[in-house]
This record gives sequence, structure tokens and C-alpha cells, in this order.
Amino acid sequence: MQTYPVATINLAALKHNLSRVKLLAPNSRIMSVIKANAYGHGAIEVAHALTDSDAFAVARLPEGLQLRTAGISQPIVILEGVHSVVDLHTAAEHALSLVFHNEPQIDLLDGAQLTQPLRFCWLMLETGMHRLGLPIEKLNDVLQQLSASPNMSESIGLMSHFANADEVDDACNTQQLNQLKQVTNQSGLATSMANSAAILSNPESHGDWLRPGLMLYGISPFGDRSAEDLGLKPVMQLQSVITAIQTVKAGKHVGYGGDWTAKADSQIAIVSIGYGDGYSRQLSNTGNVLVHDQTARVVGRVSMDMIAVDISHLSSVSIGDKVTLWGDGLAVESVAQQAKTIPYELVCQVSDRVLREYQHGEA
Ligand SMILES: *Cc1c(COP(=O)(O)O)cnc(C)c1O
Repeated sequence: MQTYPVATINLAALKHNLSRVKLLAPNSRIMSVIKANAYGHGAIEVAHALTDSDAFAVARLPEGLQLRTAGISQPIVILEGVHSVVDLHTAAEHALSLVFHNEPQIDLLDGAQLTQPLRFCWLMLETGMHRLGLPIEKLNDVLQQLSASPNMSESIGLMSHFANADEVDDACNTQQLNQLKQVTNQSGLATSMANSAAILSNPESHGDWLRPGLMLYGISPFGDRSAEDLGLKPVMQLQSVITAIQTVKAGKHVGYGGDWTAKADSQIAIVSIGYGDGYSRQLSNTGNVLVHDQTARVVGRVSMDMIAVDISHLSSVSIGDKVTLWGDGLAVESVAQQAKTIPYELVCQVSDRVLREYQHGEA
């Protein structure tokens, strides 16, 4: 019997979602984005399941090292690149590929005698996000510097990142894409622009290499289209159990601060999940959960280890019964709306304390 919070990870659904990417963009190669512990799903298990990816991408060097240590042999791109000579050497030793965003990162290559040259590296170009990226005016100089470096063994690809990909009709998307296309047409180098929202909504943006993250986990990047509408299958189901049931008299309060007051005599279930597990405190007094496939409301504040749920309208609920925080019948996208955040944050936040159980069966 399950007596603690468990995130069930459906690996067949994960593979299905990768096949969706291939169907949408059959002529592009796929760099599956598994940063932040594969958006909370477990980077090593996800990498082992997504062997059909042409490459993987993570944000930082330690994430890449963790995958190499686990025996993942595909190309692994470090999206933030490295910021010191020591890290540059480590990346080369472990055959990790780098994204360069600025000249100081590129200057690290000068004079470094790497144990093996870097392969499959990328330049991040600034096209409108104004976060990371090299101004396009600098491109020619930088390409010369890179091609002269004995530490680079292959030509570099050109990458940029949409600021508003989830706003399908935003004019900024076209502007950004046009800028990247202009320079890639001239240089003939490989291109990579599209994240999940762009893969799903903008075939023009597909280019040579896709960078899907969110959609692999079966989550919609769009406020007005469900995962199902997009042919995606949710991968994570977060569940826990009822550990106590309280009868709360009308006028009495529940939880820290007495934030919720019973209007009538109420049955309140205490569920073993809290912000220490990554269940957002923003869901205090607003979140919905499923008990016996029926909706029940979170009452009072989310604590570190538990929440209180009003089950007055449900019959025959007992201690030990399962509660779904998101998953079948309760999309993480809708829970994110209740929490006034994005589904990316909810799944990334699921903490180490939550057991991950991997299912290999049918999607
Ligand atoms: C995280 C990330 C992605 C993946 O984005 P999704 O919206 O999750 O598909 C792609 N590219 C870069 C540079 C990223 O940082």
C-alpha cells in the first residue's frame, strides 16, 4: 500500500510524446531538453527512456556530468555553457558540448589545451529575448575566432530562443525568426530555434535541431489548448494518501493562521503532501485535488508536510485512501492556473522527498 507521496512517471507516455515531436517535424533532429532533473521527472531515467533523441540538453555542467556518470552516451549540450577554464576542461574531458553566449566564454578557449576538442557546440545569438546571446554584429568575428581554435573540432551551430513562443501570434516571434534566418542563410551553419510551443505552432521555426522540453512531459505550453488537443500524453501523476480525517464544527478554523473557517460542520481529510514536497503554497485555500475521482478543495494553508481537504460532500472516504494532486482527471496545467503559476514550475518543484515510480507499460 502506498503511504507516502509518489510521482508516477509513465515512460511509455514520454516516448509517445517524443514520437509526436518527430511526426510534427520529420526533417529536424531532436535535442531533448532534460534540465532541472527532466522537469522533475528524473533526468537519468528520462534519458534512458528517450534513446531516440539525437542529443540531450541540460542547463549546467553538473547536470551533464550526472548524465555522463550514469552512462548516457549521446551528445549532451550544456545550454548555459561554462564560465571558467576549469569547467571548460571538465566539459572537454567528458565530451560535453557547450553553448557560447558571450565573448568571455569564447575567450576561455584561447590557450586552453583541452584533452580533446569540443564537438557539437552552439552559439546563442541575441534576436529579441535580451537574456543570453551574442549580438549578431559580432557573429563574423566570433566565427573566425572559433574556427581558428584547435579546441573546436566541428563547425558550430547557431541557436536562438523565442521570448513569446507560447503567444502564437506575437509579432516578436516572426522578428526573431527572421533575424536568425538571415544570418544562417549567409553562413550555412546548422540552426536551432524551436522549443515546445514553437514546435507545436510554428513549422517555419523548426530548422535543423529542435529543443523540446515541456511537450515531452505531456504538458501543453498554451493556455487555450490542452495536452490532449495537441496529441500529448501526461507523463507525471502526483498522488498521496489521507493520513487523518477530522470533524470540524461550524465556526472552527483549520490549519496555520486559522485561515479557513468551517461554515457548517465539515469533514476534513489531512493529506500527506506539502510545500516540502513541492506542492505549491499558492494552492492554500484554492487548490483542487481528486479524492475517489471527485474534486475536493484545499482548505487553509498548505503546510510543509500536509494539506487539509474538505471532503464533506463525499461519502465513505477513509484514512489510507489515495488523493491525486495532478494526473489522470486533473491536468497539471489547471493546477498551475489555480496556483497562479505555469506547469513548468509545478513539475520542477517536486522535491527529492517524493518517490518516483517508473512505469514501462502502455501509454
Ligand atoms: C528550457 C529550454 C528549452 C525547452 O523549452 P520548452 O518550452 O520546455 O520546450 C529550449 N531551449 C532553451 C534554450 C531552453 O533553456
